[in-house]
Amino acid sequence: MRLRQLTVACFLLGVLCVPAHAEGRDIGRDTLPANDGWAAEGAGTTGGAAADDAHVFTVTDRAGLVRALDGGSDTPKIIKIAGTIDANTDDGDRLDCAAYATGGYALKKYLAAYDPRTWGPAKPSGPQEEARQTSAARQAERIVLPVGSNTTLVGLGDSALLKGASLHIKNADNVIVRNLDLRDAYDCFPVWQSSPKLSAPLEQGDTPNGGLGDWKTAYDNIWLTGATHVWVDHVTLSDKGHPDADEPTHFARNYLRHDGLLDITGGSDLVTVSWSRFAGHDKAMLIGNGDTATGDRGRLRVTLHHNAFESVVQRAPRVRFGQVHVYNNRYDIPGDDYRYSLGVSTESRIYAENNAFHAPGHVEVADLVKSWNGSALHQSGTLFNGFPVDLLSRYNAYNSGSERDLTADVGWTPTLHTRIDSAREAGRAVARGAGAGRIP
Ligand code: CA
Repeated sequence: MRLRQLTVACFLLGVLCVPAHAEGRDIGRDTLPANDGWAAEGAGTTGGAAADDAHVFTVTDRAGLVRALDGGSDTPKIIKIAGTIDANTDDGDRLDCAAYATGGYALKKYLAAYDPRTWGPAKPSGPQEEARQTSAARQAERIVLPVGSNTTLVGLGDSALLKGASLHIKNADNVIVRNLDLRDAYDCFPVWQSSPKLSAPLEQGDTPNGGLGDWKTAYDNIWLTGATHVWVDHVTLSDKGHPDADEPTHFARNYLRHDGLLDITGGSDLVTVSWSRFAGHDKAMLIGNGDTATGDRGRLRVTLHHNAFESVVQRAPRVRFGQVHVYNNRYDIPGDDYRYSLGVSTESRIYAENNAFHAPGHVEVADLVKSWNGSALHQSGTLFNGFPVDLLSRYNAYNSGSERDLTADVGWTPTLHTRIDSAREAGRAVARGAGAGRIP
């Protein structure tokens, strides 16, 4: 008898049953509650709940996880991760960056070959760049894990950890990822991108540098492309173990090792991200990755609620095109290197309500929002260090310094949501309850 049937039977008989939140209960067949954000649209999100018993797996190492993911097949499946799995392993042996390097690649030689002072503004090419690409492909083959349709991926207990992996939910529908600590999607082989001044312009705001160029990294902890009906809940996403702040600079730019924590791109749609922790990272969440990606128009509908953004430098989130409902989130803004939280980009329609910001004294309300080609932002119920503020106020916020005002009319009102708390209540609840290992 399935748990749900049992629960109903107990209810009908008036019997006192084991409560659903009992320690160690099986969350594998849980489905997204009705109305819980954009992922509840239409058929909703059930992940692998329809899996037969042969497709319920408990995995303890990379090989087992890869077998269970089945190359991203759409067979209904429930995959439970027990303990720690390190993606950078082969038969249990740890692979370091040197193990992937091939074709004579060496960072020292790479830096010598493409020093902008001698190489100039051209895109890197030649033996070291070719060796970098081949080496990077070897790492990608090991750490990029495709997640197919009708899949639930959950951590068992309160300490399941997936290290070094990039979960790629690509052209898949109906996926649940819950109760998992996803850590340190570390790129061994960042690529040098040549100067925005001297070649094709990069996005305004992405390269506030001296015009030399920038390092580009490949991996997000979770990356959605062309994915629909995805529920990410009670996950913890961070660089833990390898903070980018500890990386050196090369060519006068930080040699970053991580890209996004959770990027939603390529026409993805109908996503709910709830009760998750985004911690200690630069670019946390990109929704829509190009101003010219007009195929994203009408898509990229995402709900973010009861998430914690802790020491996130920027993109919490940055949005293009999408209708994104951002409610009841908590922001703990870092003391150093903070850039902004809500990024309002091309045709974005962010509806932000009852979010709580906690910031050091030198951060101003005006710093919380940044716009590139944005035109509108709805905000209400915002708290800033306990005080109610208006992110759009002409006097204290974004509009005071902008060349182009943001209007408050985003042209839609969210209807798919569960209870919306005050920012104060939400801030406390999120501090207690967001992240892996905290499903009530
Ligand atoms: Ca990315």
